[in-house]
Amino acid sequence: MDKSNKELFWDATIEEVKKGYVENDDSYKCIICEEIFTKGRIYEIESCLYDAKKTTEMHIKDKHSSVIEYLLGMNSSFTGISDVQRELLMLMAEGLCDKEMASKLGVAQSTVRNHRYKLREKEKQARLFLAIMDLISKDTKKK
Ligand SMILES: [Zn+2]
Repeated sequence: MDKSNKELFWDATIEEVKKGYVENDDSYKCIICEEIFTKGRIYEIESCLYDAKKTTEMHIKDKHSSVIEYLLGMNSSFTGISDVQRELLMLMAEGLCDKEMASKLGVAQSTVRNHRYKLREKEKQARLFLAIMDLISKDTKKK
């Protein structure tokens, strides 16, 4: 990621980050590599025709595998996710159950459950923190 890319990425809303792109009046823009797909233009991919939105979604899949994979691949100083948590989240993303994850990681099922609990706590904290920051920023804008 270069500097300008980071700005687009870090200014994106949670929904935009989840989708992997931002929508402007006339285009869609990948927040990972900044490639632009113009609204109203038809794109040809492997002799099939797609609109800009579908092309953007296909671009994310083709070039960046998936948004979740990209996010999990980011440095832990950005995500706050430890290596063990990352491993577990990747397996969760694949849709594995606790038992399957435990055997893949070579740990007890109770360890997986414990990690899941900690991840949920982290999620709650992140949600509250976002709410707090959101309230503060709205408050500051009023003044
Ligand atoms: Zn891209």
